[in-house]
Amino acid sequence: MRRITHWVNGTPKESDTDRWGPIFNPATGEIQAEIPFATPAEIEQVVASATTAAGSWGSSSISARTEVMFEFRHLVHTRKDELASAITAEHGKTHDDALGEISRGLENVEYACGIASHLKGGHTSQASRGIDVHSIRQPVGVVAGITPFNFPVMVPLWMTGNALACGNAMILKPSEKDPSASMILAELLKEAGLPDGVFSVLHGDAQVVGSLLEHPGIGAISFVGSTPIARSIYSRATAAGKRVQALGGAKNHMVVLPDADINVAADSAVSAAYGSAGERCMAVSVIVAVGEVADPLLEAIAQRLEALTIGPGNDPKTDMGPLITREHRDKVASYIAGAADEGATVVVDGHNLVVDGEAANGFFFGPSLVDNVKPGMRVYDEEIFGPVLSVVRVPTYADAAELVNSNPYGNGVAVFTRDGGAARKFSREVTCGMVGVNVPIPVPVATYSFGGWKDSLFGDAHMYGPAGIDFFTRTKVITTRWPDPATSSVDLGFPKTR
Ligand code: NAD
Repeated sequence: MRRITHWVNGTPKESDTDRWGPIFNPATGEIQAEIPFATPAEIEQVVASATTAAGSWGSSSISARTEVMFEFRHLVHTRKDELASAITAEHGKTHDDALGEISRGLENVEYACGIASHLKGGHTSQASRGIDVHSIRQPVGVVAGITPFNFPVMVPLWMTGNALACGNAMILKPSEKDPSASMILAELLKEAGLPDGVFSVLHGDAQVVGSLLEHPGIGAISFVGSTPIARSIYSRATAAGKRVQALGGAKNHMVVLPDADINVAADSAVSAAYGSAGERCMAVSVIVAVGEVADPLLEAIAQRLEALTIGPGNDPKTDMGPLITREHRDKVASYIAGAADEGATVVVDGHNLVVDGEAANGFFFGPSLVDNVKPGMRVYDEEIFGPVLSVVRVPTYADAAELVNSNPYGNGVAVFTRDGGAARKFSREVTCGMVGVNVPIPVPVATYSFGGWKDSLFGDAHMYGPAGIDFFTRTKVITTRWPDPATSSVDLGFPKTR
């Protein structure tokens, strides 16, 4: 059985642990490799090597760091097919979808290539008589990234480019379900010229994460995952004195106003709800159909579901692959099994999917569509993270806005309409961090930052873009006087600026 290694000090490192986890091929249900859960000694070793490397990397020139970022960008782009295949083999998403996440991840490396501009400080000449003030940004030191299974390349790249370009050493603890892509990223960073120890990959479970959260050698924790874990990471790591960004789960609504184009809305809903089998933090999971739009929209969505091909992600004909584990698939199925008892109407039932051959034991569940959903039903209240789209019918715009704003999550939201005034009003009133107007998955480009509101993000630090630069640097303000001997005198008063 293939055994995954850690990546420490610029080389693969076999683990001495006696705690191992399985890595499945979700398309066949077979175990394809084993992943180590790091020992306390391995955690110490990786932090020690990162600490040593952080010193010289943090004081290297900005142009040297930029050069590594440009080369890394080039290498990821050149080897994107290999990376995409690694994603598909362990995550299950289609090859095309994997290429999509690589390309969105690369935007963040491109942003990091401009680090010379992002690290500029401010300067105020003659802030007081003879006094100049300027600010600088310095690296935090050693930082850790803890990432979810659903984007094995994009989410690590949300953090890595900025963390490294700002001069930090980074320890990545990828999801234990699909870690191989992060090992390829480590190899490519080395090939790009990154000094050994500046980027490490340490594998593990909750216990390993707990040690990282409390380790005094780590200054910042960048976390992306589910809400209960994000909440706990935020409180534990801040209590340990660390800087933390903690992004959680979601329940993303797509509000369809009566004037929307039904075909555009249906295409967008199907793409955003069922792409990557719904395992996206920005997936649309609830349609809020306002007024008379519900019946024609539901019909258009159901028609499109009939045309989807479900199968292994490495088959070019496949539109939607399997879920990540059998346990997760069964949990997703339980929402559909219970929906009718709660008073909802199951329009398309994923249980009816038939897969055969090698895929018969894969973790597949068919696209599902549930109508007449209401708050209070399990299918509405919980993040399902699977190919399940709920439809909530409301009579007016005001009811739609109230529904979205009452939801505890606030990651992404979309409004579909031809009315610019209504879209603008909605965008301003809605309590979510990312809004799409006729855009179902409004993941901001890398020159902005990513982050939800309410239970989708803990603390106030958003991810990547300008917020990423703030997160991965500490600012220092330097007040300077080059004295003029002719005007020097003793003054016991508090320094004045006037
Ligand atoms: P998860 O919370 O189970 O795991 C995320 C990471 O935390 C993994 O590295 C895992 O090993 C670690 N972890 C798991 N349990 C832990 C514990 N008890 N203590 C400490 N660490 C623990 O999430 P997942 O299932 O891998 O990913 C799916 C979730 O991530 C969904 O809820 C999705 O919405 C969310 N997500 C959010 C965003 C965002 O930007 N807001 C992006 C992607 C995914």
